[in-house]
Amino acid sequence: MSAELDHEAVIIGAGFAGLRMLHECRELGLSARVLEAGTDIGGTWYWNRYPGARTDTESWAYCFRFDQDLLDEWEFVERFPSQPQVHKYLTAVATKHEMFKDIALGTRVTSARWNEDSNTWEVGTNTGETLRCRWLISGSGLLSTPLEIPFPGRESFHGEILMSNRWPKDEVSFAGKRVAVVGTGASAVQIIPEVAHVAEHLTVFQRTPNYVMPGRNYLVGERQREWIRNNHSYLWDLCETQVFAFPWTTENRFWNDTDPEKRERIFDRGWEQGGFQFAFKTYDDMLVVKECNDAASEYVRNKIRAIVDDPETAENLCPKDHPIFSKRTPLGHFYYETYNRPNVSLVPVKNNPIVEIVPTGVKTADGVVHDVDMIIFALGFDAVTGALMALDLQGKGGVSIQERWAEGAETYLGVAVDGFPNLFSIIGPQTSFTNIPPTIEKQAIFIGQAIHRARSMGSNVVEARPEAVKEWAGTCEAVLNMTLLPTGDAASWFLGTNVEGKKSNVLFFFGGAAPYYVMLDAAVADGFPGLVMEPGLEPAR
Ligand code: NAP
Repeated sequence: MSAELDHEAVIIGAGFAGLRMLHECRELGLSARVLEAGTDIGGTWYWNRYPGARTDTESWAYCFRFDQDLLDEWEFVERFPSQPQVHKYLTAVATKHEMFKDIALGTRVTSARWNEDSNTWEVGTNTGETLRCRWLISGSGLLSTPLEIPFPGRESFHGEILMSNRWPKDEVSFAGKRVAVVGTGASAVQIIPEVAHVAEHLTVFQRTPNYVMPGRNYLVGERQREWIRNNHSYLWDLCETQVFAFPWTTENRFWNDTDPEKRERIFDRGWEQGGFQFAFKTYDDMLVVKECNDAASEYVRNKIRAIVDDPETAENLCPKDHPIFSKRTPLGHFYYETYNRPNVSLVPVKNNPIVEIVPTGVKTADGVVHDVDMIIFALGFDAVTGALMALDLQGKGGVSIQERWAEGAETYLGVAVDGFPNLFSIIGPQTSFTNIPPTIEKQAIFIGQAIHRARSMGSNVVEARPEAVKEWAGTCEAVLNMTLLPTGDAASWFLGTNVEGKKSNVLFFFGGAAPYYVMLDAAVADGFPGLVMEPGLEPAR
């Protein structure tokens, strides 16, 4: 049966992934509509506009490679761009490429059902529309489904409640207020120093201490901008080979090959260089060799002890239950130093959890009420699978995504899953864990190539082979088990264990960017062996 299409492709989300996929669709000559829940583009960089929000990646690698002309004239302001800077960049991309006309803002996808008669997707939205399309591509984000506030009593609170990942557009004032921050993940670590400057008092509720690396952000000067302009293609080439797709060379240094007398100095250098250099420019096997990881973890604990004046606070800030980098390590900008301020206090809640929000503040299990005027929750996300699992998403035979992933999410190379033809995800489950924009570009190109090949074969149905999905999920699991990631007691969104009741499941390929990119390229070159493309079906009109 043929069917009228509203658009050949529907793309969910207008963040980095959605914009890049729209560009790819246009390159292929596919009509595409982007549906975006927010009232502006930006995705992550629309919702997470809390004070202090900035990337953990150098600005010159947190952008699109496809428009080098724009990058050549772009004024990189800081090493790690702030949320307004990233949003400005994405707006410039969307404006220059006249993308807004193909984006429906304020439009949340609520359902998507595969119609087996017409080989099309029927996509329902909160505005009551149903769009029929051939290809459905999710760019709905890996960190876009916030965890709800789990504590009873929030409606009784007399002050203001804010969430880091749903931050209001209007300016929020902390001046003269007693503020609570709940959580010490990457978002809270950025918020805490900002609030501390102006609040009358800041109380931080910490469940699991993190290893926080010094960011060492700086302003980019004109000479460096010129250097970046002249060397951008070299920087992109570095991203292709560096394990996390950062624009850095690889040290090829291993713990057991290093003179023990030099080891501390190598840690010093990584720490001083800031950002994730402590992870990626010290020892390549830090996440594999326990002795190396133990030494790195202790090194950071000693830094905390050296920076934080009060020994009890310092000890409470020291992570002791998980190896460094087994949870997503935040970058801090004078994070530990903030605890030396007289107006900042730390309340550990691992063994004395928050039990209730009361009219005057936050109550912990010991019965103490911490009186505050404002509570900021930075509790994290139902990561990677949250956005798709929140949809009424049905594939072949009416099987829902919730049923398909009941035993844990699995995909073919992070982009497709059997039973859900013509559905692709960008940064879906079991994508390589990397700096995100370069991987988005790789996946968008891969998906575009798959659609192009199918169309040139006269096929309008592309589906992952079940055995290819199983094989890739097995690879992700095997790689995970070669690392120290599953060891330790701390919950991590890498495995979904930060969400109560969510089945522990490897949500990433931890084997590095370069091998992953090579596999994507090889799959394209080999004619997509992991995908079935049925030729000869009647195309939609
Ligand atoms: P997160 O890292 O998952 O941190 C959530 C925090 O809330 C954790 O400290 C967690 O404690 C705490 N928490 C959750 N439920 C709690 C409860 N019931 N009681 C007390 N504490 C509770 O979330 P996030 O900070 O929003 O960051 C998520 C991810 O977004 C990051 O890992 C990062 O990848 C990304 N991000 C990136 C940047 C950047 O690039 N600069 C900035 C912000 C975020 P436990 O650890 O004990 O669960």
